[in-house]
Amino acid sequence: MTSTPNKIVTRFAPSPTGKFHVGGIRTALYNYLFARKLGGKFILRSEDTDPVRSKKEYEDYFLELFDWLSLDYDEFYRQSERTALYRSYIERLIAEDKAYISKEEPKEEGQRSEVIRLRNPGKIVTFNDIVLGDISVDTTDLGDFVIARELDSPVYHFTVVIDDFEMGVTHIIRGQEHVSNTPRQILIQEAIGAPRPIYAHASVILNNERAKLSKRDPLVRPALEYRDEGYLPMGMLNFMSLLGWNPGTEQEIFTKDELIQAFSLERLQKPGAIFNPDKLEWVNKEHIKRMSRESQEAELMKYLPESVTGHPNFEKAFPLFSHQLIERISHFGEVKALVEAGEIDFYLDRPKISKEQLFWKSENNIQKITERLTKVRELISQLDAETSPETAKSALWQYAEDEGRGQVLWPTRVALSGKEKSPDPFTLIAQLGRDEAIARIDEALATLA
Ligand code: GLU
Repeated sequence: MTSTPNKIVTRFAPSPTGKFHVGGIRTALYNYLFARKLGGKFILRSEDTDPVRSKKEYEDYFLELFDWLSLDYDEFYRQSERTALYRSYIERLIAEDKAYISKEEPKEEGQRSEVIRLRNPGKIVTFNDIVLGDISVDTTDLGDFVIARELDSPVYHFTVVIDDFEMGVTHIIRGQEHVSNTPRQILIQEAIGAPRPIYAHASVILNNERAKLSKRDPLVRPALEYRDEGYLPMGMLNFMSLLGWNPGTEQEIFTKDELIQAFSLERLQKPGAIFNPDKLEWVNKEHIKRMSRESQEAELMKYLPESVTGHPNFEKAFPLFSHQLIERISHFGEVKALVEAGEIDFYLDRPKISKEQLFWKSENNIQKITERLTKVRELISQLDAETSPETAKSALWQYAEDEGRGQVLWPTRVALSGKEKSPDPFTLIAQLGRDEAIARIDEALATLA
């Protein structure tokens, strides 16, 4: 091995047997952060030894995920390409009589009549875990456990141990579901004469009901669905980082560099961590807020439907509604529903309104409404072509105070937007500009006539 003894090496070792689910991001991230913080090496290893369940498409899936999250790794391995190496270790163990070929009585037809078993010294294995403390397990009950189905077909426990040793892994950071695998893996390490890495088993992730995540839970969704729904990579990483770790300060929003700086294994926590989807929305929104206006808009563009981006008035309307949409979302995929609800229609097209929409509460006196809109039209026509909400407000405010705010501002706003809910009329006048505002008031007056 070329690595110096002090160099930190971590690894993340997914099995490509399904679409990588979102909870797994956390373990990958902790390994990444720890290695980066200490100037170490972060290895990605595809544990694809199960020929039936392992699929290339699932490996591609997590590679794409790592790419999206910008979790850069220093080395990448596939266990399926390392069979010869595992075989050499198995042969050596057999030669040293630390393992043996065991004749098995096949219980069912087609079952193997030979497997390779490790000679279990049958002792108490004690290991220290950074999160859980000292753990002692009597391994006698494990018996001479199987390490390979045949020379070229080692089992999971064996390949993990060989690879961690060969790759110089110093710290094994993984989920608590692997605690029970550890004693067995330590026995294999001792048999091959490998040093013991440092263990840190991170807490389980629970859903909001404090139940362990089940396969059917929407919270264990395929991770890239979050990308497709417009979550930000850093929103995702930030949220995941806090599931079972805390910085020991009040800080909740982190850049990647800040996370690297703040991370430590000592602050991994023992109790189960709750995957709270509302918290994810909040964290993601905080990251949206921290983006430059330009990147927010570039991101928003990706989520606008063709009916919007292809609209003849799109270029003119985009700067008017972009910020408003951005303020209302916590992930970009939400834009779709807002657009479908007609929230930006009136920026693209003049609204079609009915008489009744212009009635403020029970105020249905057509003549009165016509008078008020006519007055509003006159006040707007005295503004500059380009104006600000403040100027528009000072032009209309006195009249609205005298005549009744609702009586004046409601029909004005509806005339401009066609919506029961929209920005206030002053903002709309400023956004649309004087002439467009007048044209819309005229259309409203025409529907009243
Ligand atoms: N390949 C194992 C899994 O997918 C991880 C092995 C390990 O982290 O030790 O759960």
